[in-house]
Amino acid sequence: MKDSVDLIVVGAGIVGLAHALAAARRGLRVTVVERDHRCVGASIRNFGFITVTGQPAGDTWRRARASRDIWAEVAPQAGIPIEHRGLWLLARRPRAQKVLEAFMLTDMAEGNELHSAAEAAARAPMLRTEGASAAMYSPHELRVESRHAIPRLAAWLAQQHGVQFLFGEAVLEVEAPRVRTAQRTLQAERVVVCPGTELQGVGRPALARHALQLTRLQMLRVRPEPGFRMTAAVMGDLSLVRYGGYAALPESAALRAQLEEEAGASLAHGIHLIVVQSADGTLVVGDSHHSFETPEPFADEAVDRLILDHLRETLDLAQCDVVERWTGVYPTGASVDCLIEAPDPATRVVVVTSGTGASTAFGIAEEVFNAW
Ligand SMILES: Cc1cc2nc3c(=O)[nH]c(=O)nc-3n(C[C@H](O)[C@H](O)[C@H](O)COP(=O)(O)OP(=O)(O)OC[C@H]3O[C@@H](n4cnc5c(N)ncnc54)[C@H](O)[C@@H]3O)c2cc1C
Repeated sequence: MKDSVDLIVVGAGIVGLAHALAAARRGLRVTVVERDHRCVGASIRNFGFITVTGQPAGDTWRRARASRDIWAEVAPQAGIPIEHRGLWLLARRPRAQKVLEAFMLTDMAEGNELHSAAEAAARAPMLRTEGASAAMYSPHELRVESRHAIPRLAAWLAQQHGVQFLFGEAVLEVEAPRVRTAQRTLQAERVVVCPGTELQGVGRPALARHALQLTRLQMLRVRPEPGFRMTAAVMGDLSLVRYGGYAALPESAALRAQLEEEAGASLAHGIHLIVVQSADGTLVVGDSHHSFETPEPFADEAVDRLILDHLRETLDLAQCDVVERWTGVYPTGASVDCLIEAPDPATRVVVVTSGTGASTAFGIAEEVFNAW
């Protein structure tokens, strides 16, 4: 056990692990301190959907491109399977097609294809294309099984990069070069605090001015009929008014007005559809968005039913048995998707304040170290 290292990372979610990787690649000796005995936060509750297309233009899209490349490089080394690649966004409404047509004219659509519903049906038989208007294919996305990928990434960082992990040890105080945990005092030249939803803890002094909230999401795992295969992740019309890369387009206003008439309850619950598939054939399906200072612990069955309705209207499923339900939480309320605070020269506090951390963490960590 080394009590003195070059860098201490607080938190073993994807943001903490990304900083551990970026530091280890720069030759630093790194210790990661995690209060739980294994990561059980947002980083293992998400879709494992490394999304590029649809991310807001600017920092988030750039970081997602960089992160996707790092995931593609690291996953095979760390023994993390890529479950599938790419994204189909099925536009049911003509107004959704208009948003996709406008998106296809942006720089962010490079490599993407816009198809008629008939072409999409031939290319992606899992889609329910009757009555649909069009579909966009993006080749840029990756999907990993987060609940396995995050522990494998940590194990690989320990074995291949000599990163030391202290699990089950809460950090109580950060006063670089000292970091006091519930068990001991550690020393490091630099400290990165990646506390996820722990906004009232050691990150609080650096974060207090941002008036952050916590957004809670409902998620399901569904078993389809045997043999049902998805060749890529799938999203739908509601995603076009939620994801910044589409929602910022003027064409999305008319779609939103129509969705308010036709899918008002879903919009009110912040629902949009993402579906990805796991190696055992089950589908991870979500999600809803409700914001609180302290999240409500009770999942609403009506919300799950709405999500399942959107699933059935988007995928050509014969069977759809719910086998698991869970909630996840991430911080929101900042004016940007990620806060990088520097309370003193030796400390950084990094919090992803949107649902984009799986897609952007590696890119964020590279930027933090390049600027530090
Ligand atoms: C349901 C859901 C779906 C999502 N879907 C996607 C998606 O499809 N694509 C995408 O890009 N993003 C998605 N996200 C967002 C993404 O999961 C998060 O942005 C990302 O996981 C945040 O990582 P993190 O490391 O900051 O947080 P976390 O994973 O929560 O990790 C923070 C860690 O810090 C530890 N910690 C906190 N305080 C201390 C302390 N004092 N001492 C020691 N340890 C401490 C915690 O125990 C925790 O393990 C989703 C999120 C949710 C909840």
